[in-house]
Amino acid sequence: MDTQKLTGDELDDRLDEVKCFLDARESSPGPAYWRLSVHGDDVDGNFCHDCIQELCPNGEVGTDYSFYGCAPEQDGSLQCDNCGRTLEYVLDDRGVDEELECYSEDTPDLSNADTCFHLARIAHGAYTVDQKRAIVRIVERARHKGDA
Ligand SMILES: [Zn+2]
Repeated sequence: MDTQKLTGDELDDRLDEVKCFLDARESSPGPAYWRLSVHGDDVDGNFCHDCIQELCPNGEVGTDYSFYGCAPEQDGSLQCDNCGRTLEYVLDDRGVDEELECYSEDTPDLSNADTCFHLARIAHGAYTVDQKRAIVRIVERARHKGDA
């Protein structure tokens, strides 16, 4: 059914279905780390666990580097600055719009666990009716293509 006609409960049901589908397939990235100066100020980030170990050999958490205790709110997807690996994040409202824009013309590959993680962040962050419709449309279109 055309997502433009979906409203209220129907739309939320379809969105729940999309979230379940993505949650079952998504990768589970590690947290983002960043370096600390001798004074404990942030120097730079974001890095994956492997890269922070490489950048701060024998470094200690809290002294040489730190990491988020929970997924940070971002206005876009989050990758390691060094190796490009996907890191844990959630999207804020603007981020949901920006990410939807990236996928609007695209048919994402749902067999890619990182792609499912990114799409799941959009689905979980979607707040307005337009955002919900857009992510349902993108994921359902990609699922249909996979079935064909
Ligand atoms: Zn890395």
